[in-house]
Amino acid sequence: MNKIQKYAIGIDLGGTSIKLGIVSDTGKILKKITLRTEADKGPKKIIDNIISGINELTSKSKYKIVGIGIGCPGVVTPGKGIVENPPNLPGWNKVNIGKIISKEFNKSVFVDNDANAAAIGELTFGSGKKYNSFIMITLGTGVGGGIVIDKKIYHGDFGAAGEIGHISIDYNGPKCNCGSYGCIEAYAGNQYLRERVREQLKKHPKSKMWKLINNDLSKVSPRNIQEAAENGDEFAASVIEQLGFQLGSAFTSLCNVLDISVFIIGGGIAGFGGPLFDSIKKTITKRVLAPIRPRVRVLPAKLKNDAGIKGASALVFHHK
Ligand SMILES: [Zn+2]
Repeated sequence: MNKIQKYAIGIDLGGTSIKLGIVSDTGKILKKITLRTEADKGPKKIIDNIISGINELTSKSKYKIVGIGIGCPGVVTPGKGIVENPPNLPGWNKVNIGKIISKEFNKSVFVDNDANAAAIGELTFGSGKKYNSFIMITLGTGVGGGIVIDKKIYHGDFGAAGEIGHISIDYNGPKCNCGSYGCIEAYAGNQYLRERVREQLKKHPKSKMWKLINNDLSKVSPRNIQEAAENGDEFAASVIEQLGFQLGSAFTSLCNVLDISVFIIGGGIAGFGGPLFDSIKKTITKRVLAPIRPRVRVLPAKLKNDAGIKGASALVFHHK
């Protein structure tokens, strides 16, 4: 007899949109919807939007839902479902979203930071399945991180652990949004990367990038950097190699401190693919303490589209 499948609702709460889906315990999305967050209207409106989204998703649905998982920005108190000051949801302060949603639907609700949810997603359905411990990095506007130790997220004392984007690789480096200097996010964060490439490109008048951006520096993006590199442009290839070198330097410190040697990388910039991954691995292998060297793995995230929904649903399956 086939194993009876379980289903969960996964909710990816972001600054501009809320994505909700019904997901099976094998990681398949059976139904999904996207709503506007309406973050400017405050937390009450956001929660009303989530509730109506869940109602819409489950109306006429035949799936038996075992729980609801929510991945959201900001610090989430471990095990309590309280979300504190998410950076892109103004006026939020402290909201016990877990309790509110659980009461409304009489279901177990699991809430975690979105980067942690992405890591649990990879652990449950993706590239992390066969590892006990790994570090997940999501490269986007910011650089998000989740640390999995013995198949569990390491939350720290208050739920704020895993901010890999704010490891400094140069104490005199560029100023980061967080107030510190030389943070990895100040090199690999989308805006910072674009800005740096714009500056450097001026010194490379022969780069193929110029044609791809129509001589308009505001059009520099990870996508055209990648395209130029794939067409053999040396400058674009050096940007990707340099990025791998920077990320690899930060990951080397993590390896040495935690003795975790598996890195799973997701998010838009991970699309740089092989050349980025090779550069990261080469840097770590060269620099890390000798006993760890042969065990270094740098892998692409498996969950790509809808990683947010799947990761949030995995919060439920991880507990059930
Ligand atoms: Zn920082």
